[in-house]
Amino acid sequence: MKVAIVGAGPSGLAAAFHLQELARRQARPLELTIFEATERPGGAIGTDEIDGFLVERGADGFLTDKPALLDLARRLGIEDRLIRTQPTQQGASIVKEGRLFPIPEGFSMMAPTGLRAFLTSPLLSPWGKLRAMSEVLLPRGAPRRDESVASFVRRRFGSEVLERLAQPLIGGIYGADPELLSLRATMPRFLDAERSSRSVTLALRRQATRSSQPAHGARYGLFASFDRGMQVLVDTLVHTLPPAALRLGAPVEEIIPTEQGASLRVGHQWTTVDRVILALSGKASARLLTPIDAPLARRLARIDYGSCALINLGFLQRFPQLTGYGVVVPEVEGRPSLAMTFASRKWAGRASEGRELIRVFLGEQLAEEADDNELLRVAQNELRALLGIDATPHVVVIRRYVEAMPRYHVGHLDRIAALEERAAQHRWLALAGNALRGVGIPDAVRAGELAADRAMA
Ligand SMILES: Cc1cc2nc3c(=O)[nH]c(=O)nc-3n(C[C@H](O)[C@H](O)[C@H](O)COP(=O)(O)OP(=O)(O)OC[C@H]3O[C@@H](n4cnc5c(N)ncnc54)[C@H](O)[C@@H]3O)c2cc1C
Repeated sequence: MKVAIVGAGPSGLAAAFHLQELARRQARPLELTIFEATERPGGAIGTDEIDGFLVERGADGFLTDKPALLDLARRLGIEDRLIRTQPTQQGASIVKEGRLFPIPEGFSMMAPTGLRAFLTSPLLSPWGKLRAMSEVLLPRGAPRRDESVASFVRRRFGSEVLERLAQPLIGGIYGADPELLSLRATMPRFLDAERSSRSVTLALRRQATRSSQPAHGARYGLFASFDRGMQVLVDTLVHTLPPAALRLGAPVEEIIPTEQGASLRVGHQWTTVDRVILALSGKASARLLTPIDAPLARRLARIDYGSCALINLGFLQRFPQLTGYGVVVPEVEGRPSLAMTFASRKWAGRASEGRELIRVFLGEQLAEEADDNELLRVAQNELRALLGIDATPHVVVIRRYVEAMPRYHVGHLDRIAALEERAAQHRWLALAGNALRGVGIPDAVRAGELAADRAMA
């Protein structure tokens, strides 16, 4: 079996590893080629060590409630390199009228499960709190196939919870407007909680007391990373590849189906294989598939993508005023920043003793239009205004992610089901990547593994 994988992000690399597992298990010979457009494997993840700071290129960790990445780490033998967020720092803050307030303990994305902390929080007005607490009395909503996150939060908990808590928390993770974001495609557990228990608050409270967190999640906490950053995962996956399987600086420009499978062109060179796994963004897959299946390509191209900029600032001093893992900024505050992560507080080993590493996320317009000087100036203004930090950073790393984050709009899962049905007509093709069924690294890993299963079936 000859298989080509296009894209060496976490999804493509996980597909490559799983293909080798399957080939070994089924005692089938496998010839594997991975084409990566850039000179570096890892896609949107990776870590740079810069002058005593461990600077993440994108993701600084991953959610542990979806087990695909923890399982992969175990199979790769790097389970002992997993780290959890530092327990001493717990929690994060939300900005209200330019000041920081802790997210109430027990607050879960939209649902106030810790009653006391929620009632004493200054983030909401008394009316806002009353409205949110009344969720326990509300009847179930009418059944519907999908709904926007904003509509659900407003309907169950009221507009104040949406504006002040849910929007910055959920918008921060998905880089998207909750008014457009599909609840079923992003956080189905809330919809399921309403369906099964009527009240989301009561359902989550019951789950918490039953401590029904999956074993993986319970062991690592909600987030995990690796001791030397996400690069550990990339390096380990690359290390498992057969010699010369990974072709860097090799953008696939064209694919032509053949009787047996497909041929892929990089520059003037063609490679013919039995199966192709596209581990790319929706738009990049669409570009390659347009000449082969225009309706399928159009469906892929329609998946919306958002942008952001990330300014990493490394300081040669600690700032005692920082508490928790970071700050999220509600859109209603009208500020240019979306969030800040105190990386050296959240994870061990991100900065050496006596230093601080802070990541500032700025929004779409700045990411797409501002130059580096402007991005740095805005990030420093935000540090000054929100955290009282005026010091000059020792290390500055600015990254832009333009149209890099898939945004699952209402109806996404129905569109993906139709898209996958169409893709299944091409026997040689399997789609992976985080455009389809989950935006995080565990989802990308799972998508890669499922594509590998399909390719070897
Ligand atoms: C700023 C930011 C922060 C994030 N934070 C988190 C986080 O904290 N936790 C989390 O779980 N997830 C996070 N994510 C999401 C996470 O990075 C993605 O889930 C993951 O990278 C998706 O992996 P992928 O392999 O599908 O795609 P990618 O990582 O995008 O990799 C795709 C690869 O395909 C290559 N490619 C494109 N076109 C071609 C071509 N024609 N030929 C060959 N190669 C090609 C690209 O160069 C790239 O290397 C974040 C994303 C961003 C942008």
